[in-house]
Amino acid sequence: MGNRTKPIPKGTRFGRLVVVCQAPSIEGTQGKKAVWNCECDCGSFLKVKGQDLRRGSTRSCGCLYRDTRAPLGLRLPMTLGAHARPGGKAP
Ligand SMILES: [Zn+2]
Repeated sequence: MGNRTKPIPKGTRFGRLVVVCQAPSIEGTQGKKAVWNCECDCGSFLKVKGQDLRRGSTRSCGCLYRDTRAPLGLRLPMTLGAHARPGGKAP
């Protein structure tokens, strides 16, 4: 047996994800990888590798990424607005 991974208790929270149950393992380059069915705070279900949960590299279904990008998206029009402002004063 190679490296064994401890099971993650149900209900364990990683960011926005809550572990629901274990999913069938997948074959990785270094043997089988434990995969967990997780529910995101937004209601989405997804499978996440245990190592990704433990490392904290996966903490949402992707909505966290969208949410953190939102402020940048809001800032964009202001930047464009400033850039698009004519150099000279309007008559
Ligand atoms: Zn989500």
